[in-house]
Amino acid sequence: MEDLNITVLRLGHRPLRDRRMTTHIALVARALGARSVVVTEKHPKLERAVEEVTRKFGGDFSVQIEPHWKSFVRQWEGPVVHLTMYGEPLEKTVDRIPKRDVLVIVGAEKVPPEVYQLADFNVSVTNQPHSEVGALAILLDRMTEAGWTRLNFEGRMRIIPLGNGKIVIDMDGIYLSDNDCLRMLEEVGCEEDVVSHARTVAKIAVKIAGECRADVDLVRTAALLHDIGRTKTHGPGHGFEGAEILRRFGFPENIVLIVERHVGGGLDSKGAAELGLPERDMIPTTLEEKIVCIADKLVEDGKKVPIDKEIQKLKEKGLDKAAERLQILYQEVEDIASTDLDRLGA
Ligand code: SAM
Repeated sequence: MEDLNITVLRLGHRPLRDRRMTTHIALVARALGARSVVVTEKHPKLERAVEEVTRKFGGDFSVQIEPHWKSFVRQWEGPVVHLTMYGEPLEKTVDRIPKRDVLVIVGAEKVPPEVYQLADFNVSVTNQPHSEVGALAILLDRMTEAGWTRLNFEGRMRIIPLGNGKIVIDMDGIYLSDNDCLRMLEEVGCEEDVVSHARTVAKIAVKIAGECRADVDLVRTAALLHDIGRTKTHGPGHGFEGAEILRRFGFPENIVLIVERHVGGGLDSKGAAELGLPERDMIPTTLEEKIVCIADKLVEDGKKVPIDKEIQKLKEKGLDKAAERLQILYQEVEDIASTDLDRLGA
């Protein structure tokens, strides 16, 4: 799918009649893995609509204007596929289309006859008349072998589908509301005491984040979700397991990494490998990762405890290096906060 660079050429757009259809062509093309749509004249509304969707939902899809479509098609170096009800059936052609820069032509009304000659493949999605939007969607699905299902747009807005609705992550806003974080925990079956611990950790983490001028909403969201991996294990692998759960749901990496790196004072690659986890550092590096890690260590049985208690526990387990790392981390966050963290109430 990475090598398959698909461009869609929209021919015959009639400004009033086809405005929404052409926008839908562009949106379907973007969502199903094409890189750009080419139109033959400027359509400010189309460009604005595509820009807005791409700004919010990610990806690098573009709208290009090519007034001289014939020379554009002639000069196209890869295969040219024309979608038409008068073409050869898709199921007979799709495997013959080379998987490199592909130009897909879709019409609005009848396209000029030259298109049939210029195309390497005239392809029909049934020989019944229907819609260019539907035909394009099916063609892209088949050409990418459903590769669109694995696309990651890295957008500022993410829709997380849950069994009983959806969650919207708005990275330009408050990330997730508290209520949506709790729905997420409920969705994966988090136990009540884990949820209650997460609430207390979030309260402390938000206070520390405020003192440190860190991203308070990111900290609040990740702190509420930090123990989601306890649905899989209560062992030290729960940070990694939690991160994997969130990755599968499509959560952004800045939230995921806070969850992955919150265990103890973080795990170095050797420690991670010893636990049977991927051999990579899971040590908090951003300020928000450090804050959630520290806030978690300040809560035991739903109550705020001094950091020394956790440091002592690590030492008793013979984890001197981890204890030392936690001590340093705590000091670093306290210095940034310029306040005694032990005195910050829950
Ligand atoms: N029906 C004519 C055709 O398929 O060539 C043209 C008009 S149709 C309203 C507009 C566009 O829809 C066509 O240019 C073609 O790209 C697409 N289309 C409609 N039915 C199709 C089909 N059965 N298979 C493939 N494409 C189709």
